[in-house]
Amino acid sequence: MTDRIIPPGSTIGILGGGQLGRMTAMAAARLGYRSLVYSPETDSVAGQVAAHVQGDYDDTAALARFAGQVDVITYEFENVPETTVAACEQHKPVRPGVRPIHLAQHRLREKAFFRKAGLGTADYQPIGSEADLAHATALPGILKTTTEGYDGKGQLRVATKSALAPAWQQLGRRECILESLVDFECEISAIVARSLGGETRCFPIGLNDHRDGILRTTTVPSGLPAATLGEAERLGVQLASSLELVGLVALEMFVTRDGRVLANEMAPRPHNSGHWTIDACATSQFEQLVRAICGLPLGAVDLLAPSRMENLIGEEAKDWGRYVADPTARLHLYGKARARPGRKMGHVTYVSAGSVPKA
Ligand code: AMP
Repeated sequence: MTDRIIPPGSTIGILGGGQLGRMTAMAAARLGYRSLVYSPETDSVAGQVAAHVQGDYDDTAALARFAGQVDVITYEFENVPETTVAACEQHKPVRPGVRPIHLAQHRLREKAFFRKAGLGTADYQPIGSEADLAHATALPGILKTTTEGYDGKGQLRVATKSALAPAWQQLGRRECILESLVDFECEISAIVARSLGGETRCFPIGLNDHRDGILRTTTVPSGLPAATLGEAERLGVQLASSLELVGLVALEMFVTRDGRVLANEMAPRPHNSGHWTIDACATSQFEQLVRAICGLPLGAVDLLAPSRMENLIGEEAKDWGRYVADPTARLHLYGKARARPGRKMGHVTYVSAGSVPKA
């Protein structure tokens, strides 16, 4: 076991240059690790806080050079091509590895895996042909492209069967999944770490509020009944164990009005709904990732104080002056130069030993 430990002083390679890589590098630095970010952009926000190499995801020679400079590799978003991860695996351990992204990159594979692992999901059907349209029953539903959808992009609500063909047309007749619309009470997420030795640890479950498909706030504690939280944690741990991953996986779930917990989507990396852990948990999700992939013991996941994380989207980050002046707010800005609509520019975590102020 000890020979697999990657000690402080080593270098962590991070595929992807966004804010999740940035916060991973910051947590790694705190534990005495160096980070080397690999991304196609010349100027990445992760590269502002760590060493950075620019390279395309299909440049196997550049990837080999990158791998030669690091001790272990992780990825900060799940749309890194599988072939990139596989190329890196030729040289160094990549944690969590190819399989979790192979599944997470494709909504049909992902849902099938959930079912196989014993996690309940909404009813769903593949939509890839006229015949599929004719046989569709998961209605009213949401039609989603199987790949490249995030933050609500590439998905349309479909109320009736007659609306399905036009919706599919609007999505470019690409391969899609039709999911029946879940009448949910709320949305929650479990973020679970799994160590090299197979130990799992789940952060306290966050209550998530989305607007226009984008996460707006995460509140912990969620205020949900213990049985619901226990079930959510069980599903998250079940997923991490079934994937046999080393690292982190976030599982987004629906709590239905009749109390069931259904799996919606997974991300085998730190997750926006876990940002509150930086300020309000004994170990942040980013440190936990570093611990897991370096073979260190997983950190404690105790909630230190009630907290609510609010995303700063687009122009909202211009209000930074308001947040730095607020003693209950902890401001995190990602160093992005341009505030496009819908772009995550930063977040604020309100931490309170008493109650957390309402939005
Ligand atoms: P996704 O990209 O799958 O995470 O979907 C983005 C958001 O759309 C979710 O957080 C939900 O608010 C909503 N949503 C997605 N799928 C469903 C569904 N089957 N039923 C109801 N709401 C959904």
